Amino acid sequence: MAKINLHYGDIKESYLFSEIAKRVNEYKENHPDADIIRMGIGDVTQPLVESVVDGLVSASKEMGKKETFHGYGPEQGYSFLKEKIVQYYQSEFGVELDPAEVFISDGAKSDIANVTDLFSNENVVCVPDPVYPVYLDTNLMLGRKVVYLQGNESNGFLPLPTPETEGDIFYLCSPNNPTGATYSREQLRVCVNFALERDAVILFDAAYERFVSEDLPRSIFEIEGAKKCAIEFCSLSKTAGFTGTRCGYTIVPLELVRQGMSLNKMWLRRQTTKFNGVSYIVQRGAERVFCEKGLSEISAVLAVYQENARIIANTLRELGIWFSGGVNSPYIWLKCPNGMTSWEFFDFLLDKARVVGTPGSGFGECGEGYFRLTAFSTKDNTVEAMRRIKTIL
Ligand code: PLP
Repeated sequence: MAKINLHYGDIKESYLFSEIAKRVNEYKENHPDADIIRMGIGDVTQPLVESVVDGLVSASKEMGKKETFHGYGPEQGYSFLKEKIVQYYQSEFGVELDPAEVFISDGAKSDIANVTDLFSNENVVCVPDPVYPVYLDTNLMLGRKVVYLQGNESNGFLPLPTPETEGDIFYLCSPNNPTGATYSREQLRVCVNFALERDAVILFDAAYERFVSEDLPRSIFEIEGAKKCAIEFCSLSKTAGFTGTRCGYTIVPLELVRQGMSLNKMWLRRQTTKFNGVSYIVQRGAERVFCEKGLSEISAVLAVYQENARIIANTLRELGIWFSGGVNSPYIWLKCPNGMTSWEFFDFLLDKARVVGTPGSGFGECGEGYFRLTAFSTKDNTVEAMRRIKTIL
């Protein structure tokens, strides 16, 4: 008999976005003319920038000629892209990387999930609550013990480990999805020192690093000692519109060693065994993100989302509603007014303003009573959504 992984039975049904779709569809059936504004799902709306499209097109043409055709590439990514990422870390964060520490991925989600391969199931895994659900589910699928770092208004949804905190593997997400909260240098120093003291490993999700507009860290490696205790996951999805094109990168430092084994070597072995790399065409497109023109083009796109975030934040401020995020992140995390639960506020907003957001309870127990709005809509829709919200609150 084929025995299955029974731990799949331990994970909750992923019903958040399907439940949102179901409620929106029901509403539309009853109100066919309602013009609904969607500020729920965290997908981008602006197209790829010109430089990236040029890179994709010219690489596609290369693939059509015998002399420039590419077959299998290096599993860990082409040097032309890895070198660009090394330069990006140097110029943006003042962090020196060796190209061997950079691994090109098909997006952050797969690597965040696959990195679980490197660790024993005996580890206790510490996950912030609320947070991107992939950290929790991928560990529950392996039957690992998970403990939570609880986010709340008093810690600004930036929970920190204390000496009592259990855990060998720590997930951190900054800027955070869903709360938009972003750790300071001092706070990340606490996390790094904590990990160093107990030989723990931090899995740092920097998928939204380019949204940081204040003087806050964008890479865990800005913190001294982090190369001895952290792996960093990055993505071009939200920063360069690659949600459908698929490319990201993961930094596994050469200095990261546990039980006498190099995690960099283990990850290389894992990737060369289980992954065949990101397509040449996509990597050539990604390369253009890191050129001078590409960086200025993606900054212009991010400015659209940042402006939307400002519009949402200003409205909530005017209404006296508590929120986090919106300054260094495309997410605004607000307290549901009048003591409503997350789903009550979802229904209220849909019914009275025809605006769709995401109930905070879908990101963990500590998210109950909170709600996420995203800045990924158009400016017109954002302005209109805020106008409607002001009339009902
Ligand atoms: N990490 C966080 C915090 C995210 O919110 C997301 C996507 O929403 C991802 C990672 C996954 O990104 P990618 O599209 O690169 O797989």
